[in-house]
Amino acid sequence: METVSIHDKKFRLYIPSEDIDQKVSDLALQLSKDLKGKELVFLVVLNGAFMFASDLMKKLKLPARVSFVKLASYEGSQSSGQVRELIGINEILKDKTVVLVEDIIDSGNTLDELLQALKPHEPKEIRVVSLLFKPDAYEQSFRIDYTGFRIPNDFVVGYGLDYDGFGRNLKDIFTVVEF
Ligand code: 5GP
Ligand code: MG
Repeated sequence: METVSIHDKKFRLYIPSEDIDQKVSDLALQLSKDLKGKELVFLVVLNGAFMFASDLMKKLKLPARVSFVKLASYEGSQSSGQVRELIGINEILKDKTVVLVEDIIDSGNTLDELLQALKPHEPKEIRVVSLLFKPDAYEQSFRIDYTGFRIPNDFVVGYGLDYDGFGRNLKDIFTVVEF
């Protein structure tokens, strides 16, 4: 069994790079069909989605702008309901089809914040593509248009996803092994 250790945790091979590559090709084909003719801006949500986005965009057969965004991190406590700033929006999104590119959607709270932060930019429509999706953890109602893999509620690393800063550069996806 192929395993990796990061800090105090051990992970086992879960989705090999060949399977990821096939899935990314499938997603790119689907997106290329569905989004043809639209004015597209792909917004890659950093940090985790960098590797997925890189592979996805290479396989996409459409003219598209690609930009990178990050949610501002909270400084101290903030009142609930406050929408966090989206760092890096320097594209005009008004009347464009915005495609949010995510590594993983868990509770969906991050996605919800992203959607709130995008609202003032008045995009024509927003599509979401996420490599991984944890349906059992999802608490929001916004439709995830494109999902690579639906996975159980376990912690995964690799292919952009980190555990405390490490593991992002692994080409496969690994899942945590409980001891
Ligand atoms: P959500 O807001 O949907 O609960 O979580 C989204 C964020 O939580 C992701 O962008 C990611 O940073 C982190 N996250 C959720 N599940 C996992 C996981 O299994 N592994 C890693 N590395 N990060 C995760
Ligand atoms: Mg993410």
